[in-house]
Amino acid sequence: MNRMLMLLNLLEIIIPKRTSAPLSYQTRFIVISPKWRARDDNQASTMKIMVAIKRVVDYAVKIRVKPDKMGVETNNVKMSMNPFCEIALEEALRIKESGLASEVVAVSMGPSQCVDTLRTGLAMGADRGIHVEATSVLYSLTVAKILKSLVEVEKPGLLFLGKQAIDDDCNQTGQMVAGLLSWPQATFASKVVLDKEKQVATVDREVDGGLETLSLDLPAVITTDLRLNQPRYATLPNIMKAKSKVIKKYTPQELNVDIKSDLEVIQVTEPPKRKAGVIVSSVDELIDKLKNEAHVI
Ligand code: AMP
Repeated sequence: MNRMLMLLNLLEIIIPKRTSAPLSYQTRFIVISPKWRARDDNQASTMKIMVAIKRVVDYAVKIRVKPDKMGVETNNVKMSMNPFCEIALEEALRIKESGLASEVVAVSMGPSQCVDTLRTGLAMGADRGIHVEATSVLYSLTVAKILKSLVEVEKPGLLFLGKQAIDDDCNQTGQMVAGLLSWPQATFASKVVLDKEKQVATVDREVDGGLETLSLDLPAVITTDLRLNQPRYATLPNIMKAKSKVIKKYTPQELNVDIKSDLEVIQVTEPPKRKAGVIVSSVDELIDKLKNEAHVI
């Protein structure tokens, strides 16, 4: 056994350090060589997590369509962090607090006011912010391309997104960026467990029939569902601290992303108004209405 360890230590001197080595290559060595395990522990504790947080119309606001029917009114409307992005950020912060990551970087794309959303994220506990400034509408594929470029710059071990943005309800960006990066993905996460040694995330996903559990090699993309956690409120001292945290600015051009989209919005309309309900006087009348008026039974 000692001779084997000596041989492996010798091999470690001969084999050049391959930081970009495939995961399976690294894990094979973790099992056998204590030296490799020590290096891998260090790698995990220095893992960076990137979280995409979107600025959206606050969930409690009654949405109004613009008179030209080309979008919804956002002037003088309360804007907030997309609720699913808050959950994504909370999860990243919890992972960092448990010692499995060293830095949480929040990213937001859109107009200059996205900086406010980033400051909220920094006040919740993110270490740094990145703002990719764009004044025109950014569709999911463009956002995914920008995220891919940022991942190439920042090299996070995990990329968290909300499962969907409550303004466009696209539910596409996480899947698209995972595809562009060729990273494994787990969408609709309701539980995330990281194995630091194996560099694996085990994720429970909310699917129609219940829960599905996936095991993903890191780096990976995870999109978060409602039941994953309860996001924290920012405390006053943390709001003050957030003012001095760094927010780096990029333009899409600096990240080599063309924001021109093949999608065109034709029209935005409000959902049809619901008709007022009726009060029925008996079960028979209810059954009659369901059968003969609503045609549902
Ligand atoms: P969607 O695919 O548009 O429903 O958005 C899903 C998730 O992608 C959101 O919850 C965010 O995490 C991320 N995302 C989408 N657009 C943006 C944006 N402009 N800035 C930051 N994150 C975004």
